[in-house]
Amino acid sequence: MTKLEIKDLHVQVSTEDGPKEILKGVTLTINGGETHAIMGPNGSGKSTLAYSIAGHPRYEVTSGTVTLDGEDVLEMSVDERARAGLFLAMQYPVEVPGVSVANFLRTAKTAVDGEAPKLRTWIKEVNGALEKMNLDPTFSQRSVNEGFSGGEKKRHEIAQLDLLDPKVAVLDETDSGLDIDALKVVSDGVNRFRERDAKGVLLITHYTRILRYIRPDRVHVFVAGRVAESGGPELAEELEANGYDRFLKASV
Ligand code: ADP
Ligand code: MG
Ligand code: MG
Repeated sequence: MTKLEIKDLHVQVSTEDGPKEILKGVTLTINGGETHAIMGPNGSGKSTLAYSIAGHPRYEVTSGTVTLDGEDVLEMSVDERARAGLFLAMQYPVEVPGVSVANFLRTAKTAVDGEAPKLRTWIKEVNGALEKMNLDPTFSQRSVNEGFSGGEKKRHEIAQLDLLDPKVAVLDETDSGLDIDALKVVSDGVNRFRERDAKGVLLITHYTRILRYIRPDRVHVFVAGRVAESGGPELAEELEANGYDRFLKASV
């Protein structure tokens, strides 16, 4: 059974004024088959958590652990994390000029599987995944994220999720900048992924809107670098009604 376990994670970045601690002891367990939402105000450290799980070099883990099925994620290279079954969609996806979507996806699939996918079936799979996200097959010839609209970036990410078929997906602000139609397409894609057996999803978001389409099993309110409160979907409803005030006051 899949299990992503984050225990008392402390993370710092270096700034002009010296090291700054951003994550101050994050503890969270996501079992296969569960969707967890992390909700928090801007600057609370949500993306830092995503980057730390992804292994971004700017984020230094000073203590705590992250394991996937008992394996130490923090010891793994970025590629090893993907091979172990982690998928991370970042809030600001990077542009990869000169690399087509088709080649990018093939390289990613090869890195995850340890062998290149068979070309003929792969092209069909890619076109199928793009089509499900309302992306035209010609999309696969464009350079990754170059000139993509906000919606295209996010839909491309969910097509990646579909093709790479990880155990656990961490999705950082997958809803940001989406109009209602794109939000539905993206949410449907995440829900299709969830329906495959025992997938874990960590959905990071500032707004409650996406949670109407992707129902989380657990909701965690994230404030000042830690989980301030955890609950069921009703916690998202409280946030929708009252915002983060109650949690911000409690954190100072
Ligand atoms: P969120 O995603 O919740 O909006 P972030 O994780 O992006 O929050 O940022 C949390 C805090 O850490 C912010 O105060 C931000 O300015 C700071 N921070 C994040 N990354 C860096 C970095 N690479 N260098 C300096 N400060 C950073
Ligand atoms: Mg601590
Ligand atoms: Mg963020």
